[in-house]
Formats: sequence, structure tokens, C-alpha cells
Amino acid sequence: MEQRVHNFNPGPATLPLPVLEEIKENFLSFRGSGMSITEISHRSREFDEVLTDAIDRTRRLLKLTDDYHVLFIQGGASMQYCMIPINLALPGKPLNYINTGTWSTKAIKEAQIQGKDVRVIATSEDRDFSYLPTDFRVDKDASYLHFTSNNTIKGTQWHHYPDGEGVPLISDMSSDFMSYPINMKPFGLIYAGAQKNIGPAGVAMVIIREDMLKRVPDTLPTMLRYTTFKDNKSLFNTPPTFTIYVIDLVLTWLEETVGGLKEIEKINKEKASLIYEVIDNSEIYRGTTEIKSRSLMNVTFRVGDEELEQRFLVETTKNGLHGLKGHKSVGGCRASLYNAVTIESVRDLARFMREFEGTARRFIQA
Ligand SMILES: *Cc1c(COP(=O)(O)O)cnc(C)c1O
Repeated sequence: MEQRVHNFNPGPATLPLPVLEEIKENFLSFRGSGMSITEISHRSREFDEVLTDAIDRTRRLLKLTDDYHVLFIQGGASMQYCMIPINLALPGKPLNYINTGTWSTKAIKEAQIQGKDVRVIATSEDRDFSYLPTDFRVDKDASYLHFTSNNTIKGTQWHHYPDGEGVPLISDMSSDFMSYPINMKPFGLIYAGAQKNIGPAGVAMVIIREDMLKRVPDTLPTMLRYTTFKDNKSLFNTPPTFTIYVIDLVLTWLEETVGGLKEIEKINKEKASLIYEVIDNSEIYRGTTEIKSRSLMNVTFRVGDEELEQRFLVETTKNGLHGLKGHKSVGGCRASLYNAVTIESVRDLARFMREFEGTARRFIQA
């Protein structure tokens, strides 16, 4: 096999190796059909089994009660920024948003474009989104409260969800979906672009509670209504069949090989602590976020001065450690430690970071 590298890409991101091997092994003839999964009808029995399995596994992994529906919708997480306000805003009731970074800002903009009564009840923009706001009041009559559970670019993550005080929560969970068990009770809707933690690009998974569906105005274009996806088991039109097939494989891996969300959470905590330990005991690495809000999924940090940081990025790549450059809007470095990133990859990164610091120290002292 060709050498694979340690892949810390922020998204699209690495997938579990057994999943890639399974795809490779069986691609030309899906379950003995003589055709690949990309060459058969989305209404075939074969694809229906894949779709049903993906939904059932999601229900089991998240312990969903019957009043939640699992939908697959194209357009990524970004499409949800538009669909949420047009489907779920109640007449005369404000939309509450918490702004914690780039993705929240985009979600807010999309609601504002529609001329909705958008109230940003808290923001951490004053310190460049390096923390999560704790001091805010939710409007009692709000249609919903929207927040981003993990801020992929800034490197912060809600470890306790904001209290909606009875108002349904909605969360963009694109970059930490399925990385720990979720208490679904306060949530009216959660959504995630697949390409960080559950599969390849091409679809967002949306989990919506029954009562929210009653809000959907029937004046909306068919393809923009949540009810269309719910009523047709996400098969109103042709869904991205290959993407859903891979998602099913990833969920199978997560459920059967890893052992579920409690297990993956344990591993994810261990992975993140390996890198944070290096950062916390270093003279050249600096975390860019407040310690109590930092993310287990996207570890953001700086390395010495610009020159040293450049050298770090060049050297990591040379050493088979890929995808560590921070988002273009913020610079710096970022290690994305999604579910499929192995603990061995993270150990190698931690070891490299320590060695690099040793070399850099000698270089600085010389
Ligand atoms: C990557 C990401 C997005 C963008 O998702 P698309 O599927 O490209 O629209 C949105 N929100 C968060 C939190 C992300 O990490």
C-alpha cells in the first residue's frame, strides 16, 4: 500500500482507514450486484438498505427518541443557515443567536438577509472570538436560540451548552458531531456538514424534532422545506448516494469498532490532552483560546515568531504531518483531531512538537 500520512486536515478531513479499505475492496460490485453503489438507483432496495442503516445507526448512537427525525440535505451546513430561519421563525418572535466566530457570523447574516428579527444576544467578537460568552439573556418568546457547538476556525467548543431557558436550541455541530454523547432534550434541531466527522462532503445531516416541523410554512419552495425531506425519507430528489453510503460505513465503524459515542469521547479527550499538554508546557507554543473553552476537535496555536512558525509548518509536512496550517482568515496553526484521527497520529504530532521545540531552543540560544 502507498504510504498514508498523518492527516490533520480541518475538512474535508481524514476518514477511518477500515472505511476506505472497505470502499476500495467492494467498490466495483456492491454486495454482489455487479454494479457500484454510484451506479444504482437511489430507489433501489440496495440503496434503501444503506439509507435505513445510516438512519438507524444515527438513532442508536445518539439515543434519539421517536420524536426526532434524521434527514440528509444537500448544500452543506451553509444551506442550513438559510433553511433554519425560513422554516422555523415564528411570526412576531425574535430569533436569538450567539456569535462565537466565523460560522456563527455567517449563520446570523443569512437570517438577517431574510429580514427576520435577529437578536445577537451574546458575542465574543471583542476578543477575537477566543472565548465563549457566558453572560446573556435569552428572549423568553424567542423562536429559537442558535449557537455553534464547536468553532472550527477559532478553536473553541461549548463543553456545557448554553441554557435556552425553555426556548428550543439549534446548533451547528459540523465539527464536533458524533464526537461525544449528546443530550438531545433541549434541541429542536441540530445539523452538521458531513465532511468533518462523519463522511465525505456532499450532504448535511439534520436532526429535527417533530414539533419544529409544524412551523414550516407551506408557501416555501418544496426543496427548502424540512417537511419535504421528512415526508420522503430524504428521497424527494436524488440524494448524494455515495456520500450517504460512506456515512453509513463511518457510523458502522463508530458503533461496532469504536463502541459508540462514550468510547470515542474518551479517545478524543485523550488525543486533545496530548497536544494541549505540549502547548501548556512550552516556551514556543501558545494556545490562542481561553483554556476553559478550548476545543477537543480543533487545537489552535501559534509557534514562536512568524519565521519559526513557517519553519514549523514546513518541517511538519516534511515529517508526514499534514494539514496543520491555520485557517487563512486567522493564520497560525491548527491540529484538527476529528474522530478518524488516530491516537498514533496524535502521539507522533506531540512527539514532533517536543523535538521541534528542543531544536528551536538550541537555535534561539545559539
Ligand atoms: C466546515 C463548517 C461549516 C461549513 O460547512 P459546509 O458544509 O461547507 O457548508 C459550517 N459550520 C461549521 C462549524 C464548520 O466547521
